[in-house]
Amino acid sequence: MKYQGFSFNKLKIASFDFTCCEGCQLQLANRESSLTDFFELLDIRNFREISSEQHNDYDIALIEGSVSRQDEVERLEAIRRQATTLVAFGTCACFGGVNSLKNKFPLKESVTEVYPCMLIETSPIRKISEIVKVDLFIPGCPVNKEEVERIVVSLVTGSLVFLPKYPVCVECKAQINTCLFELGEICLGPITRAGCNSVCTTGKTPCLGCRGPAEEINMAAFLALVTERGLSQDDLREKMAFYNAFEGFTNYEA
Ligand code: SF4
Ligand code: SF4
Ligand code: SF4
Repeated sequence: MKYQGFSFNKLKIASFDFTCCEGCQLQLANRESSLTDFFELLDIRNFREISSEQHNDYDIALIEGSVSRQDEVERLEAIRRQATTLVAFGTCACFGGVNSLKNKFPLKESVTEVYPCMLIETSPIRKISEIVKVDLFIPGCPVNKEEVERIVVSLVTGSLVFLPKYPVCVECKAQINTCLFELGEICLGPITRAGCNSVCTTGKTPCLGCRGPAEEINMAAFLALVTERGLSQDDLREKMAFYNAFEGFTNYEA
């Protein structure tokens, strides 16, 4: 196919939802200004939200959501067998996401609290890398469509796919925002991977770390900042646990 003088093969792509709100898949159909160009790059083989056609000859599989049932395990394994590149698409898939809060309660209690009259098959939440090999992680709750577009272009052109290594604070300061620590709030921006254009903090809401840890984070300095400001360690732990994205970082000594 030729596109503005450039020859390429469209990506044979499929998108599948597991335990989630489907907000990340919705992002694929977002951003109308670039939607036509975006879809020009893709040969969509299976994507329930935008087409009733279903084909199983895809190369790239986007997996949205975490895993909470045995039938999801089997479905995910079958997708893995077909896909050349399997992408953990969004925070639920990458880390377990907000669904992981369920794991803090006894299984029966967490289900019957929400659905008292229903029998539901459910197991503890797992991120998809606990079940199958993942080739690419695109974090975010939801994913950032601009970042997804950039990654898709990289895949089409065979160039390097990368996520920002630096923390959200870099994007936040570039927007000349007042730091929320100055207003007495705990914000996870200093330890969270950028790429969302600091959307929460620009809206005066502290970052809850949906994109997971930035590379080479200085946890000691971050903890010192929280302590220096007299902010609550319990609040900090709660925020870091919200998306389950800081697993392995939460057993720190305050
Ligand atoms: S990462 Fe967030 S937006 Fe995406 S599916 Fe999970 S809960 Fe929904
Ligand atoms: S508000 Fe959060 S993201 Fe922004 S500079 Fe302060 S700590 Fe960093
Ligand atoms: S500011 Fe933090 S919580 Fe908000 S989208 Fe960005 S990484 Fe996620």
